Amino acid sequence: MAVDLNGKIIAFQRNRLVFEYKDSYFKSVAELLEEFRISSGIDHDKILGVGIGIPALVKSDNRTVFYSGIMDVREGTYEMFHKYIPFDIVMFNDAKASCFAEKWVNKSMQNAFYILLSNNVGGAMIINGQVYSGNNFRAAEVGHITLVPLGRRCYCGQCGCVDPYLAATNLSQDDLEGYFANLATTTDEKILDAWDQYLSYMASAINNVRALMDCDVILGGYVGAYLEPYLAEIKKRALKISTFDSNADYIKLCSYKNESIAAGAALHHISEFIKTI
Ligand SMILES: [Zn+2]
Repeated sequence: MAVDLNGKIIAFQRNRLVFEYKDSYFKSVAELLEEFRISSGIDHDKILGVGIGIPALVKSDNRTVFYSGIMDVREGTYEMFHKYIPFDIVMFNDAKASCFAEKWVNKSMQNAFYILLSNNVGGAMIINGQVYSGNNFRAAEVGHITLVPLGRRCYCGQCGCVDPYLAATNLSQDDLEGYFANLATTTDEKILDAWDQYLSYMASAINNVRALMDCDVILGGYVGAYLEPYLAEIKKRALKISTFDSNADYIKLCSYKNESIAAGAALHHISEFIKTI
């Protein structure tokens, strides 16, 4: 994705490439990027930098990866990208990048918690208008709050985390669009029961976040893009288990329906550049 100085998406291309921590992977990414740059008609010299969103935790230098339970993204990933990509590179945790994109769209946002409901569950929070990272750069990891004691096994090694209950893969392995199209009309009780359970887990996770943070909760990621028809039901369920709230208007849907990770990672460069003007 290419973003201009106004934060507007000017070109977009999706390529699927299986991640491998190998020279050949990083080389292929760089080649695809160069093809994309040329086909989009963007001058090499006009590029401020490249932002990369990854499902891993990254330190504030936007280079050092220190935790990745999902893919084999490890320390040295930045250097591997840097070897082949001839631009200034920054790397971001996927949820943090998405949250940054939301903040970009909603400039007045002061306090908010973003839940990334994609093939894994991530989170990020904005406090006093800034992304809050915590003492160890792992704040807002809502995917690993215990939702069901001794429950389903999580990829992190623990059991009962939010992730194995709210990951998009609970709904569909690779066709969420088809899943939600079917859900709108289906009478299949198995599918409806599973969705009902998913919504209950979601309401519990939202309520936990709300009780702790007392701020807006934004539902994003792959699933967040399809939740509009179900928002009233989600609010109803969250309100039912809330201790303090008299309405659930604090629950919002993401503004970026697609590609929020790429947008957030790219917008970092724009944001930094604007500060220098
Ligand atoms: Zn976990």
